[in-house]
Amino acid sequence: MAVLAAAAVTSGCAQPGSAGAASGSGVGGGPEASGSTSIRQPLEAPPPTATPQPPGRKFQSAQEARTARIAAARRWRLESVPLTPPKPPAQRPRITTREGFEVDGHEELGLPPVFTTVPTKQRVVFLTIDDGAEKDPTFLRMMDDLQVPYTAFLSNYLIKEDYGYFKRMQGAGVVLNNHTLHHPYLPALSYRRQQHEICGMQEVIEEHYGKRPLLFRPPFGNYDRASLRAAKSCGIKYVPLWNEEVFVDHWEYREWDRKIRPGDIVLTHFRGRDDWKGTMPDMIRRFLNKVTSEGYAVARLEDYL
Ligand SMILES: [Zn+2]
Repeated sequence: MAVLAAAAVTSGCAQPGSAGAASGSGVGGGPEASGSTSIRQPLEAPPPTATPQPPGRKFQSAQEARTARIAAARRWRLESVPLTPPKPPAQRPRITTREGFEVDGHEELGLPPVFTTVPTKQRVVFLTIDDGAEKDPTFLRMMDDLQVPYTAFLSNYLIKEDYGYFKRMQGAGVVLNNHTLHHPYLPALSYRRQQHEICGMQEVIEEHYGKRPLLFRPPFGNYDRASLRAAKSCGIKYVPLWNEEVFVDHWEYREWDRKIRPGDIVLTHFRGRDDWKGTMPDMIRRFLNKVTSEGYAVARLEDYL
């Protein structure tokens, strides 16, 4: 039942032409109307010679940090300066499985919660980026320069050609999480094979990055009870799905009213011009322009779990 419900509304990581995905229709709804967003703080175009600041800089004052954020927004041609996220709540929210996303015996077995939104009244969203196909160094510079947090869900068959790229990402403070070894449609596999896919990726991430993930996202958003049992067996605590998906040229929404809500988890993918009509920075620009214009800051998912 949960699998069907999830399958009906998700496509997640479906690549163009890939088999096994629920459909190409994403989290529901069509492309957003292309007109744009109200501009809160217009910015001029960047000087053509502008180059990003080196990473890891420290600011002497809040004013200096603010000035740097404005300059970074201009360099990356954002419509407005991304909002600074509030301090995460001292008391972490209680994460529970979204209604309709449970499996049989979910609570009794203590299986990790499956959710699409973090319960919070703060006007924040969480950015999550999946798979790992595109390895664009400009994207790393952009996110470091803008200081926008995100969480990565990685699949080994895509990252193994360049583990170093994701090591740099981790070095910038990004938590690397589990998205299976080979990105299969999990409900078609036995418990043992699912365990191999999920727990095998725990081993890969621990070996290359020194940490065992606590977060797991099933490929395409599809899972069954065996997936969650397997994930739990190798240390997974949370199974975050998503409530919106951003592409380089449009947004898709899970909710009927096509609105972003406080605490929503937003999905996107490591994709470039081979997969869609633009670059990772183009996609991030679309993401930030919309959330900023609607008054949302981007917060770090791990700070709320
Ligand atoms: Zn995926």
